[in-house]
Amino acid sequence: MSNVEQTLSIIKPDAVERNLTEEIKIIFKKNNLQIKNHKKIHITKEEAAEFYKIHQSKPFYNDLCNYLSSGPIVVIILEGEDAVLKNRKIMGATDPNNAAENTIRKLYGISIDKNSVHGSDSLENAKKEIGFFFNN
Ligand code: ATP
Ligand code: MG
Repeated sequence: MSNVEQTLSIIKPDAVERNLTEEIKIIFKKNNLQIKNHKKIHITKEEAAEFYKIHQSKPFYNDLCNYLSSGPIVVIILEGEDAVLKNRKIMGATDPNNAAENTIRKLYGISIDKNSVHGSDSLENAKKEIGFFFNN
């Protein structure tokens, strides 16, 4: 049975700055994740705080919000079979040092904070996160 889903990807400031957007998009497409919508934006710290509010009690929350608002990002709606889980696999572990070979974070991530991409971690959060950036 098919299970087509949508998920949200964010290409974070470190990757946009290094002009990795197209290379990362190619990785999604190679893995049968279609780009349904995308835009380059620069969010405020307040918007980042709202987006990452599930992490508000974490010690790294303030740095995380400063970072996501530090430069342009590219927000992308990905669609495909098991898109949420598939995107998480393609991204690799949060810390690039622990990420599997050929994952985006292994290939391009610099550190646990500058880890190049965000991906929704559940279908429910994917819907919320897509709604946060796209009015559809
Ligand atoms: P993302 O939500 O960005 O896709 P993730 O789901 O792999 O990443 P989370 O646990 O949701 O990881 O953490 C959100 C972000 O917070 C991470 O991408 C990372 O940049 C940052 N982060 C997580 N843990 C730490 C930590 N221990 N120290 C510093 N930053 C961290
Ligand atoms: Mg997360």
